[in-house]
Amino acid sequence: MLILSSPSETGKLCARWRANGSRVALVPTMGFFHAGHESLMKLGKNAADKLVVSLFVNPAQFGPGEDLEKYPRNLERDAAIAEKNGCDLLFAPTPRDMYADDHHTWVEVPELARGLCGASRPGHFRGVCTVVLKLLMITHPDVAVFGRKDWQQQAIIRMMCRDLNIPVEILSAPIAREEDGLALSSRNVYLSPGERAIAPHIHRGLETAADLLARGEKDVGRLKEAALAYWESNLPGCEVEYASVVHPETLETLPVVTGSALLACAIRLGSTRLIDNIELNIS
Ligand code: AMP
Repeated sequence: MLILSSPSETGKLCARWRANGSRVALVPTMGFFHAGHESLMKLGKNAADKLVVSLFVNPAQFGPGEDLEKYPRNLERDAAIAEKNGCDLLFAPTPRDMYADDHHTWVEVPELARGLCGASRPGHFRGVCTVVLKLLMITHPDVAVFGRKDWQQQAIIRMMCRDLNIPVEILSAPIAREEDGLALSSRNVYLSPGERAIAPHIHRGLETAADLLARGEKDVGRLKEAALAYWESNLPGCEVEYASVVHPETLETLPVVTGSALLACAIRLGSTRLIDNIELNIS
């Protein structure tokens, strides 16, 4: 496995691979790998001949007061995990490699970035879209893989690729969870032992709403009430930043579940903000 920090070297290598007839898969990440990242790498490796994993804690997607400085990092460990999962090239640029001092150009999908996480993280998805487009322009992959844990992110990126005619196939991987249901996240290391112990209730609250839907309740107000009541009992003192039922692609808020829908939430456990979601389907 090669490790490169230079965008132009990375671009040249990917171009050589493509010229030799290889399909290239890209898995964009911010590192500190867990089994969720590994599942994306496996998906990418299966879909292509060459796997490129990017590792970049992108300053442009962090707002003022967010955790850019303390975001967990461990390049050595990450390189070993990437290599184990068949990564051919780990692209690990610095912010200087990625952004000129006078960087001017930004990409946005404002409609889809307005709600859910976008409401409390203004500019976040602008930073995500811009860096993902840059990564796609550097590597020109045939396939790019994202996780459904960040559902809004992959929906926005699909829309960006459609709107801008970017010739890449977007794959999304299911949410990888701990045995107790907590969605894997690099940010889980911030949790105190007490917070970690109650964190699986985030997912159980989502399941409570999904169970109610399975019993015939389609009204979104009541489904949300069920999740909120569960969290109030089991996550005392934790702030539910949002719990929303939306259309899985347009991310529009739905009043009633009539087909496919997504229940997504962001919850603060102490100073740690965790997100999760569950697909709600009426067959
Ligand atoms: P991150 O390094 O947190 O920016 O995540 C990189 C990619 O991994 C994104 O596409 C995430 O959606 C995905 N990802 C993160 N956590 C999980 C998880 N628990 N299950 C599946 N995918 C995940």
